[in-house]
Amino acid sequence: MTNPALSVIKSDLAEKWQQILSDLITDPKELLQILQLDADKIPYSRAALQQFPLKAPRPYVDRIEKGNWQDPLLRQIWPSTQEEIGQAGFDTDPLAEAQFNPVPGILHKYRGRVLLTAAAHCGIHCRYCFRRHFDYQSNSPSRQQWDAAFDYIRNDSSIEEVILSGGDPLAISDRQLAWLVEQLAQIPQLTTLRIHSRLAIVIPQRINRDLLHSLQQSRLKVVLVVHCNHSRELAPELAQSFGMLAANGVTILNQSVLLKDVNDNSPALIDLSKSLFQHNVLPYYLHLPDRVAGTSHFDVSEAHAIALLSSMQTQLPGYLVPQLVRETPGQSSKTRIA
Ligand SMILES: *Cc1c(COP(=O)(O)O)cnc(C)c1O
Ligand code: SF4
Repeated sequence: MTNPALSVIKSDLAEKWQQILSDLITDPKELLQILQLDADKIPYSRAALQQFPLKAPRPYVDRIEKGNWQDPLLRQIWPSTQEEIGQAGFDTDPLAEAQFNPVPGILHKYRGRVLLTAAAHCGIHCRYCFRRHFDYQSNSPSRQQWDAAFDYIRNDSSIEEVILSGGDPLAISDRQLAWLVEQLAQIPQLTTLRIHSRLAIVIPQRINRDLLHSLQQSRLKVVLVVHCNHSRELAPELAQSFGMLAANGVTILNQSVLLKDVNDNSPALIDLSKSLFQHNVLPYYLHLPDRVAGTSHFDVSEAHAIALLSSMQTQLPGYLVPQLVRETPGQSSKTRIA
């Protein structure tokens, strides 16, 4: 006979990340209180909150320094009054993505690989996000729409890699994810499954055995591209969980966004690269921010970005220097800078 108390504990553990995901901090006043900050120092915009609500997981907030209104982790989630500043050239669809959306849930811009919206929501709202104006409503496939998406992939023999994106694909349950991975593995010409996730960083509990299990048993080669912008975001336990994924054949890479007053200095970037490596992750891309309406206060000039990259190149081994890129509408890949 199984001990009911024990099984409760077991399922509690398994669902921990989902509890965290359903208990996000959404009220700026609560965040101020936790961080022991005064609203005078760091005002917030109601208009910004309405356009793109505050969402922050508690493990991420735990990593913010108390009393520091300039903390680089806080800056990434705070609905600042600066978002109200309109700027010429900062648009709601800067990447002109609407035209690459052949069926709901699919974004097909580059040869050989497609992006598939696996979840409409995220575990955190990053204020600089280029998807903050995205029409998720019409891009969250129902089960029938999934079939149309799979057919689209199946019918284009040039597609070898599917990139699960979002939202955040790791916001869906382990069961749904296992189903999705299984469906994709049945498409014969696919060789690679890529998962783009920030949730893996901001809710470290997400990297669990069930996830490992569904990735490890797939015939597809798996790449996990996490999104981390600052070394302080990396929880120590991630070294072990990423190590476990890597030991099971998953390649783990990181993409960061270069953000003003978050990571736009060479010590922060160098520290991030070294710290990622200690956590079994290699740097992949360093993105110049997209020109999205409401995010101009994060913008970094191309000249400054190039100077930062040269500084990294002189101080780091080559494998710890990410590629500096920008996304330019109409190009067949990301644009390498410098
Ligand atoms: C960034 C991106 C990819 C992946 O590009 P890689 O250079 O292979 O990392 C694929 N599709 C879309 C629409 C993208 O924006
Ligand atoms: S997790 Fe990714 S998609 Fe979601 S808000 Fe942040 S940057 Fe945007």
